[in-house]
Amino acid sequence: MATSAFLDPSTAVEHLATYERADGLSVAELMNSQVHGGLTYNDLLVLPGKIDFAAQEVSTETRVTRNVVVKTPFFSSPMDTVTEGEMAIAVALLGGIGVIHHNQSPSDQAAMVRAVKRHENGFITDPVVLSPSHLVEHVLDVKERLGFAGIPITDTAALGGKLLGIVTNRDIQFLSPSTPLSEVMTTDLVTAPQGITLQEANDILRDSKKGKLPLVDKEGRLKSLLARSDLLKNQNYPLASKLPESKQLYAAAAVGTRPADRERLALLVDAGLDIVVLDSSQGNSVYQLDMIRWIKQTYPKLEVIAGNVVTREQAASLISAGADALRVGMGSGSICITQEVMAVGRPQATAVYAVAEFANKFGVPVIADGGIGNVGHIVKALSLGASAVMMGGLLAGTTEAPGEYFYHEGKRVKAYRGMGSIEAMEQGKPIPPSAGSGKQSGSGAANKKVQTHENAATSRYFSESSAVKVAQGVSGDVQDKGSVRQFLPYLYAGLQHSFQDIGVRSVSELREGVHSGKVRFELRTASAQVEGGVHGLNSYTKRLFA
Ligand code: IMP
Repeated sequence: MATSAFLDPSTAVEHLATYERADGLSVAELMNSQVHGGLTYNDLLVLPGKIDFAAQEVSTETRVTRNVVVKTPFFSSPMDTVTEGEMAIAVALLGGIGVIHHNQSPSDQAAMVRAVKRHENGFITDPVVLSPSHLVEHVLDVKERLGFAGIPITDTAALGGKLLGIVTNRDIQFLSPSTPLSEVMTTDLVTAPQGITLQEANDILRDSKKGKLPLVDKEGRLKSLLARSDLLKNQNYPLASKLPESKQLYAAAAVGTRPADRERLALLVDAGLDIVVLDSSQGNSVYQLDMIRWIKQTYPKLEVIAGNVVTREQAASLISAGADALRVGMGSGSICITQEVMAVGRPQATAVYAVAEFANKFGVPVIADGGIGNVGHIVKALSLGASAVMMGGLLAGTTEAPGEYFYHEGKRVKAYRGMGSIEAMEQGKPIPPSAGSGKQSGSGAANKKVQTHENAATSRYFSESSAVKVAQGVSGDVQDKGSVRQFLPYLYAGLQHSFQDIGVRSVSELREGVHSGKVRFELRTASAQVEGGVHGLNSYTKRLFA
């Protein structure tokens, strides 16, 4: 009887053990080859693993600083065309963290931090309160600044005063701004006693059909407030980045490292800041090291994200000074010309791997900042050891980014500029319309800003106050992306599907898989990159999600 030349197919899986190496490359083999030089995200791919779970089971929970864990690994950049209050709130509700930029006055920035902290609460323990002698115009002012008009009225215009009424949006519609609130406030109140549980308070609020539920002590003094809109938000945003105890959203903001930034930071901390980002393109400076030490001494509970760095040596300095996380990237941003002008920087995939490999040993998470153009880049950053990514250009075209849409060559766009662009360094100067632009309305985000901001220019590039400003960024526009309320859930779902393909259920499983060599990689040649993109079609449309 002739024996088959083939192995028994049922032994295929066991047969793998006879190979010396698994298919593809381990992360160390991929990154440590001296041959290919620094890699970008596009230079590599992750090999597929085994799917034995549904994509919806994948958790993207991640530790983004020593003491902060969030449900999605997304940060929005501290840039004046990306993150102000509205973006910070939306990103936090969707499970990430928005870092409010500092190319504005300290008081404006602090007001945005306050708005984030006030946005969603269990009990609002620091509500805006007015008195009967305040006017309708004061309510309108609060509405404009903070976005709500349901305000309790006490005799002292403060928490702890005797509750006399409540004013809502409906009470003030069509009234003269000079009408005193005593004439319009509702005095028929549903209240709850201080000390009841959040669940009990929620039930009363639901049954009462009112928008706000004031909580009062035995003497009728206002102690806190619960909002119906927060109840709804709690149901709609299961991934929201909230402090475990207070249920307030995490607030993050950027500052520089100049002496004036210490005063700025004091205002931000007073407004409730949880995480500060030390915003510098080259973080390994004596200014930043001093600043980290000073912050750790002055505000021990504040989480400090230091950076930017791209080497182990830079990282080591900042870690030993006390950084709670590192921001990695130099020259990889879509608006960035640092590598071109300064000849300094590092390809981003290599930078993320080198820094994360080192920093993770000390329990210091790494945030891969810049150059994120799609879901795949996020997956690659996480595979290389990052705990989260920071995005500028990808989010600048969303509704929640500052500035108005306008039309450029038939496309609906928003302005997006580097913080090291001449326009941003000279804060307040209008962004020149692009040549041949078919601009129809609106203008750059920064145009909205008035030039009266005291101390507005940042100190990210060590060039802002020099006689000759050397640009490290450009100013341009990006296409309309709709709302982050659809876009971030798309990135989240995309990540879940990618993790499923790789065969890992969580960020920590991915980390372990990469570390143990189970998750494998492949280098991507130039022609592999062409092959991996759409090719050979006469024309096509690229819709990313529905
Ligand atoms: P993007 O997501 O690729 O658009 O990159 C955004 C990141 O670029 C930011 O988070 C900053 O780290 C960085 N960045 C912002 N402004 C500039 C600049 O003017 N030059 C270089 N890098 C910049």
